[in-house]
Amino acid sequence: MRNSSYDILFEPMQIGPVTAKNRFYQVPHCNGGGYRDPSAAAAMRGTKAEGGWGVIFTEQCEMHHTSEITPFIELRLWEDKDMPMLRKMSDQMKSHGALAGIQLAYSGVNGPNLYTKEVPLAVSAQPIRTFTNDPVQARALDKSDIRDLRRWFVNAARRSKEAGFDLICLYGAHGFGIFQHFLSRATNHRTDEYGGSLENRARFVNEVVADIRDAVGETMGITLRVSLDESIGELGFSNAEVRDFVEMNRNLPDLWDLAQGTWEDCSGPSRFFEEGAQQALVQGIHDLTDKPIVGVGRFTSPDVMAKMVRTGTLDFIGCARPSIADPFLPKKIEEGRVEDIRECIGCNMCITGDMTMSISRCTQNPTFMEEWRKGWHPERMNAKGDSGTVLVVGAGPAGLEAARACAERGYDVALAEAGTAVGGRVAKERLLPGLSAWGRVADYREYQISQKPNVQTYFDSSLDAESILEFGFENVCIATGASWRRDGVARQHVVPFAVDAAMPLFTPDDLMAGAAPVGHVVIYDDDHYYMGGVLAELLVEKGCTVTLVTPAAYVSEWTVNTLEQHEIHRRLAGMGVTIELNRGVMSVGADHVETNCMFTDQRRDVACDGVVMVSSKLENSAVYDALKAREAAWADAGITSVKLIGDANAPGPIAWATYAGHRYARELDMPDIGDALPFRREVTALAVD
Ligand code: ADP
Ligand code: SF4
Repeated sequence: MRNSSYDILFEPMQIGPVTAKNRFYQVPHCNGGGYRDPSAAAAMRGTKAEGGWGVIFTEQCEMHHTSEITPFIELRLWEDKDMPMLRKMSDQMKSHGALAGIQLAYSGVNGPNLYTKEVPLAVSAQPIRTFTNDPVQARALDKSDIRDLRRWFVNAARRSKEAGFDLICLYGAHGFGIFQHFLSRATNHRTDEYGGSLENRARFVNEVVADIRDAVGETMGITLRVSLDESIGELGFSNAEVRDFVEMNRNLPDLWDLAQGTWEDCSGPSRFFEEGAQQALVQGIHDLTDKPIVGVGRFTSPDVMAKMVRTGTLDFIGCARPSIADPFLPKKIEEGRVEDIRECIGCNMCITGDMTMSISRCTQNPTFMEEWRKGWHPERMNAKGDSGTVLVVGAGPAGLEAARACAERGYDVALAEAGTAVGGRVAKERLLPGLSAWGRVADYREYQISQKPNVQTYFDSSLDAESILEFGFENVCIATGASWRRDGVARQHVVPFAVDAAMPLFTPDDLMAGAAPVGHVVIYDDDHYYMGGVLAELLVEKGCTVTLVTPAAYVSEWTVNTLEQHEIHRRLAGMGVTIELNRGVMSVGADHVETNCMFTDQRRDVACDGVVMVSSKLENSAVYDALKAREAAWADAGITSVKLIGDANAPGPIAWATYAGHRYARELDMPDIGDALPFRREVTALAVD
């Protein structure tokens, strides 16, 4: 059973009038589903309950209609009508003895109210501060508004209780919640008793906690989520002021929930932030309060977790992403199966579900947000179908997940890999600057496969259609990946353009295989995710002078959705990379590239010694195509199904590949559903009148 040094993580802990069964605390996190996909979101929380978490929270819940953050999709508690969906969630959370928590958010200067069309109310009159710079300003709360707002919090607390929750989190972190707006001099310019001194700025939160305690405090625990440092210098709610605030309000909430800084800091990607990155900011705060503290830090190591508790740094281990990548993390520690933990890689793909208002995905856990939609469980596969054998060709993320999950279902699996190691693209990308944690995608699956007697892995096995036909496996899954294009075709150029053969030209694959450009190198990034920026870092490290040219308005533009974009720009600028935004490449000469302005087409040559094309990818689907051409021979060879998955089918991020591999395994031998929708969804109920 479990290692006794982790016993401390399983001690029951009190939060006001309620008791958590252990110290594993799923802090509030978004999922892109929210009020649009309430059953999907509820089932996802229920899976965590089954996985052993002691405390499970909702995502942020807009507690009054005068403050909302459309287009982002969270939860709403505006009227009694919203309660059934929240009750469904709290029921799921409590299904295995966890405490159910709701995060009440009033967004103030962060809520543009695009949906309700209400005039935003904020601590001080200011332009709305969101990701999208909406052209909307907020009016300052007057005294009667503050009285109203206190009452709305009480109404929301009463509804939360009725909806079955045990804990209320008052949201004042990440710059998003009104409590921080009151506390910070950056957003509180008031001259009345709610502004000025720290005592005055702390008045509102004291009033709301007292009001809620009066209303529901006998039965519900009240937590306060604040950031450890607003990270905008002295004007903001700095770490020093946070410490003063906690000291002055020692026992204000029943638990202090200490987030890091901005959301970008708090959900820091592994490319820029280590596990436990908030350590220095949280250290010592315990001495300032008698109440328990929860903190985050992308914790996946039980040793680090136990150390956090043993050193008196934290009382609860807060996890968002680690609980997404492995909802069964507490259970695996409890059962002494630490090596089975599916560790978060810190890629922040989960966050893109919220940022793109779609539904979240997890690179490591393809079942995330599919627990209800598709009935997928993170630890259990569906029963095996009628056939018996599967040949998976290619051991990248797609092939590895297909092999692992097919074996879990009980099939006899052969995994054939052309190279000498598993991992495919991940085996190469994990060696790039900042991406080593991404290797966990391969490590987790390689270990799981090694524990299964019904999977055989064959290296140095570059298969072709002929050999596959000879083997006679019933099912063939082709996951042979993709290669970066050399001709620069992507979005700006939909057909190849002029490239002088005298110019040394490289693809990301070339650089990952060890090619070494010299001198001044132009990276032409028309891919817009991480690769262009990562290669700029790599080349600077190798002594090149680098210019990154991109038709986008931001370097590594799509990483806005993974909360990395600012950090990437800062890193590249700090390394001396010249960043040319809104510019494309029209042609490549022998000693230069010809760039063009995306708006005016004004041209400018940039002299260089080498060019890296970060454009799009070509599917390696030749084996599949050849097999398809021999379809008439399948039956004699004993083949009943051949499927192309992952990058070989359509290139995308790693999360798309693990999803494709998992889906392949789930659907093998399943009845054909024809034109039916392959997942469940909810449709807004039509009003009667
Ligand atoms: P994905 O992300 O879809 O899993 P990758 O490119 O990461 O794709 O992985 C594809 C893997 O398939 C690579 O490890 C590659 O070496 C392997 N591969 C490609 N072609 C063959 C083949 N014909 N036979 C066996 N393995 C192959
Ligand atoms: Fe971790 Fe990436 Fe999964 Fe998010 S998507 S939980 S960062 S592995």
